[in-house]
Amino acid sequence: MEAGVGREIQQDRLEAFLRRKGLRWTGQRAKIVASAFSKQEHFTADELFSRVRNTCEAISRATVYRTLALLVDAGLLREIDLGDNQTTYDPNFLEKPSHHHLVCIDCGRVLEFEDAEIDLLNQRVTRRFGFNPLRQTLKIEANCEQLRLNGRCPNLIAARVSGQRFRKPRQASHTPTR
Ligand SMILES: [Zn+2]
Ligand SMILES: [Zn+2]
Repeated sequence: MEAGVGREIQQDRLEAFLRRKGLRWTGQRAKIVASAFSKQEHFTADELFSRVRNTCEAISRATVYRTLALLVDAGLLREIDLGDNQTTYDPNFLEKPSHHHLVCIDCGRVLEFEDAEIDLLNQRVTRRFGFNPLRQTLKIEANCEQLRLNGRCPNLIAARVSGQRFRKPRQASHTPTR
C-alpha cells in the first residue's frame, strides 16, 4: 500500500472514531496523524512530538500525547515493547496485522517480519488453553549481523550518542538467578 493512500484511510478511520466519541477532528490532529504515519518507523511519544514540531510549532506535547492515546484506542496504532523501558508506537499493524519484531539488543535496530508458521503455532497454543486468539506479536531479542560479523555495530555508537536507544546490559540472561 502506498504511504499516502494508507494515511488517508487512517485519517478517515480516526475521524470516524473521534466523531463517535463526540470529539472534534482538528487541523492539529490531522498533522499529528500525518506525522505518525509518514514513515514505517516505530517511534516514542517524544520522537513523534519533535517530528510534529517541525511541521507546526504551535502543537503542544499534551496534544500529541492525547492524540496518540486516541490513535491507540481507535486501533490505528499499537503500543509495543521493544525491551528498552519505553513505550514504542507501531504504525504498521494496519498493513501487516500479524508482523513480528527482531530487535538487536545492542543497537536497538528493529526488523519486522511475517511468518505463517509462527502465527499457526501461536494460534495452536492459544486454542489449546481454550483461549480465542485475537492478536499476537512476537519479539525476538538478538545481536544484529553487523555486530556478529565485525564485532562492532555503527548503530550502537549512534544510539548511545543520541541516548535514545541505549540499552542497559541484561543481567538476568548472563548471571544465575539463584
Ligand atoms: Zn512493527
Ligand atoms: Zn546491532
